[in-house]
Amino acid sequence: MPTRQCPYCGQPVHDSLAECPYCHETIPELRAAAPAPERPDVGRTKIRRGLLCMLLAAVIHFFAGGYSAMKLPFPIQPVVTIYLAPLLFLAGLGLSLYGFLFAP
Ligand SMILES: [Zn+2]
Repeated sequence: MPTRQCPYCGQPVHDSLAECPYCHETIPELRAAAPAPERPDVGRTKIRRGLLCMLLAAVIHFFAGGYSAMKLPFPIQPVVTIYLAPLLFLAGLGLSLYGFLFAP
């Protein structure tokens, strides 16, 4: 016989009873945990990540390209400013556009 514990007095109570036979409290009905809903903000997360990538690319381009007055203590390969920072920027743009247009 499937039993469960009364939340009020702790006695084992038959599963089908709605009232505890010992303390006569109403036992709240057990409900199976609802399956986790699909995350609704998945598109917004992609947009946010894409914008963050674009911001990071702009910051990298600003400092690595020598636009700031700050002198960096180490040399930066020109491939960073020529290819990698624009690539990161475009990837971020694509990700945010994907989140904006296609993700639910
Ligand atoms: Zn009880």
